[in-house]
Amino acid sequence: MNDVLSTDIQFVKGVGPKFAQVLSKKGISTIEDALYFIPRTYEDRRRITKCRELVPNQNATLLVKVLSQREIRQARKSRLEVVVGDETGRILLSWFHAFPSLKEDFKEGNTLVCFGEVKFFRGLLQISHPEYEKITEFEEGKPKASLHFGRVVPVYSETEGLKQKTIRRMMGEVIKLSLQSLDDSLPEIMRTRLDLPTLRSSFRAVHFPEECPKENEITKFLQRIIFEEFFILQLGLGLKKQNQQCQTAPVLESSKSKMKDFVKSLPFELTQDQQKALSEIEKDLSRSFAMSRLVQGDVGSGKTVVALASAVIAGGNGYQSALMAPTELLAQQHFQTAEKLLISTGLIPLLLTHSNAGSKEIQEAIRLGTAHVIIGTHALFQKGVKFHKLGLVIVDEQHRFGVEQRNTLIQKGEGAHLLMMTATPIPRTLAFTLYGDLDLTLIRQKPANRIPIKTSILRDRERPKLYSKIRERLQRGEQVYIIYPLIEASEKLDLKSATEMYETLKKEDFPNNQIALLHGKMKADQKEKILLDFKNKKYDILVATTVIEVGIDVPNSTLIAIEHPERLGLSQLHQLRGRVGRGGLQSECILVADLYVTERLRIMERSEDGFEIAEEDLRLRGPGEFLGTRQSGLPGFRVGHILRDAKLLSLARDEALELLEQDPNLNLSENKKIRLLVENRWKEKLERLKGG
Ligand code: ADP
Ligand code: MG
Repeated sequence: MNDVLSTDIQFVKGVGPKFAQVLSKKGISTIEDALYFIPRTYEDRRRITKCRELVPNQNATLLVKVLSQREIRQARKSRLEVVVGDETGRILLSWFHAFPSLKEDFKEGNTLVCFGEVKFFRGLLQISHPEYEKITEFEEGKPKASLHFGRVVPVYSETEGLKQKTIRRMMGEVIKLSLQSLDDSLPEIMRTRLDLPTLRSSFRAVHFPEECPKENEITKFLQRIIFEEFFILQLGLGLKKQNQQCQTAPVLESSKSKMKDFVKSLPFELTQDQQKALSEIEKDLSRSFAMSRLVQGDVGSGKTVVALASAVIAGGNGYQSALMAPTELLAQQHFQTAEKLLISTGLIPLLLTHSNAGSKEIQEAIRLGTAHVIIGTHALFQKGVKFHKLGLVIVDEQHRFGVEQRNTLIQKGEGAHLLMMTATPIPRTLAFTLYGDLDLTLIRQKPANRIPIKTSILRDRERPKLYSKIRERLQRGEQVYIIYPLIEASEKLDLKSATEMYETLKKEDFPNNQIALLHGKMKADQKEKILLDFKNKKYDILVATTVIEVGIDVPNSTLIAIEHPERLGLSQLHQLRGRVGRGGLQSECILVADLYVTERLRIMERSEDGFEIAEEDLRLRGPGEFLGTRQSGLPGFRVGHILRDAKLLSLARDEALELLEQDPNLNLSENKKIRLLVENRWKEKLERLKGG
């Protein structure tokens, strides 16, 4: 890295070790870090206002002399009032604490520049707690131009012990020191084509602009810095993808007749989107490098059959497939589906669970290849499990696994194709950032036989209405979920209230029905037993925490009531809602809102489109919350914001893809610099991938 840019911030004039320590809390330890510390806002102090011109409720920059100072003692503390003025008038400055340093700075006769909002109070023009700077240097009788006035000045986010003036002074030094080293890395042709300012002028303009940016304006200079940040990420992801494409994998040709037979044997016709997904996968599998494809499809869009069809292709070529699910229950469900749907193909599915993983027979079946489609949880990839010929790894509900786990998986499937599936549609911008290294397939269409789920919001006081709706369903022999979400912070209390609700329902509201309670604190086998019993209609109502969010398929359940929906993200609500409407019966989702109905929930009434809901959820909660802690692998941007700057992100992606198309390894001389930057920024991650 560039010497100047990597210089420790403490060596910048006026910083030193103590100040540097405070800065490190802001993530600033080098000159480069400081450059990326973007002002929070700006103040236009180009014009000095004369006292005569002051207008209440407006900001003003004053160049004044101290006329008098008065300390006003009150109870325990003392206030400070200072009268200042110029040749046209005077104004009162006031502070709630008469700090000694203040009294010193505002000694009679001192010249200062003050900045703040003018108020009209008790018949006087005043500024309370103005920002100020003592003027000690004069040029031809006038105060010497400064970083702090007579210009547009940057205002940074503050940390304890950091004053604006101090930060600004440091930034002045940082800019002075680094400008020469700020060499443009973006290829010149591209920079000109996109009309992006140089990096040098961008950093200077962002910290010390000529013109005052409007509130929240992303100036073209800031855009330039954000673009570069996104561009480097996208190049990194692009290179990573190329890297994956260097990983060889068996060529798995799809046999037209076998596929036709399989599709014919299904109890339904594939939707167009399912067919499209399948043909994309067919193409991927027929190549000699590893597929890494993510299929995004709403709950109930029919991803499982696409996965099984892929396994049919692998099987047709003599290769095994591994299907990994996030829970044992889901694995079981998949196994049952596979048993049914694979019959005509002659492929043998096998369920690997925690309880049978140790069994010799099972291990042999996997090792010798008598089992073709092995279904299980992540236990699938434990050391003891040896595959005969693993050609395809399928990960279901991959959003349940973190980015880290995803990378580990890619490595596990060494020499195997990787197919991932997720029911949490990720909005485009986020997908670019998280999955820029994957190929994406969308299944937007739902199977035609699906009857839309009716969603409504009820107030808590309308509970009797909810219960009568539930009774109707039960009378028809249908089943019902009641969801009681726990929030981590008060998990114990919530669990208590969930349990209490369950007791009341059982004793008072539905004494003649069978009700079960299911929550995350139960042992896995206990949970599974309850779910299975529910599926087998042993229970009419299942009261559950959000543990049932993923996967459970009980077609006879037609009503889901969700308590405290405000505790959950929209995407999560949508997932939960997907637990009903899985059979041919008209289903219903009722959100039992606490006191008032937040506008946010209304989208659930309006829309059943997981993508639309995800967009909204992302917009409302931001990427971190949206993805939850599991997905904390989201790269942190120093300046860019994937939602606010979505357009720049798209542009950066397009540009990165195009550049890599022209120059896959960034070997051309005009791309050397950007390549260096990408390598520096993503070294770690790219290498980890190569290693795997
Ligand atoms: P998800 O995408 O949520 O994993 P599943 O694969 O579990 O969805 O499919 C949901 C239900 O829809 C299953 O019962 C499945 O048999 C059924 N299904 C899948 N594809 C179709 C189709 N093309 N037509 C009708 N039903 C389908
Ligand atoms: Mg599924």
